Amino acid sequence: MKMNREWLLNILFPSRCPFCGTVISSDETTCQDCSSIEIDNLIRPMPLKEQMSVCCYAAYWYQGVVRQAILRMKFKEEPSICTFFGKSVAKIVRERLPDMTFDAVTAVPMTRLHQMRRGYNQSILIAKSAARELHLPYRNCLRKVRHNRIQHRLTAEERRKNVRGAYCALPCAAGLKLLLVDDIVTTGATLSECTQQLLNAGAVQVVCAAAASSVPEKATD
Ligand SMILES: [Zn+2]
Repeated sequence: MKMNREWLLNILFPSRCPFCGTVISSDETTCQDCSSIEIDNLIRPMPLKEQMSVCCYAAYWYQGVVRQAILRMKFKEEPSICTFFGKSVAKIVRERLPDMTFDAVTAVPMTRLHQMRRGYNQSILIAKSAARELHLPYRNCLRKVRHNRIQHRLTAEERRKNVRGAYCALPCAAGLKLLLVDDIVTTGATLSECTQQLLNAGAVQVVCAAAASSVPEKATD
């Protein structure tokens, strides 16, 4: 029965290459042509308010086929691409931080209305996929409490002001070592604000990771 169900699901919703959309077999991650696309494995510095500065680990530069994949993931109702990016996030975290331990993976939230409109939050799906790969639980530790302006046309300073007070951490964050996941890191304003909120709520450690990082000087999305 299980095989039949899987077989049927595979016919109805075949696995597709996250980069180009070509149908692939269920045991492949990308198509043959895209298999040469290598993970970029980046570190982006991220100023965290006054006292400390942290960084964000990102799997890819947000450009070319990666950018197209992320746009399909966000706007073309292809949430399955999140699974691929979650695995990429897990890979770079394992490579960069082999000795670091985490209690849970969490994600940058959207407002309820925004998530209802899209039907899913891509950052949560990426975080859940990364959690599965890293054998960690996923926990919702943040809530978006205020709608803010879309960030992409704002300067770094405007972004910082724009996200201030937009997120609050939930009490369950207390005492946890967390991996905080977002889809794209640009200036790091959102991740910094969320990190600060989690630390204020008693999180012991917050490490940030994103599927992709905007290319400096061309930070448009
Ligand atoms: Zn492909």
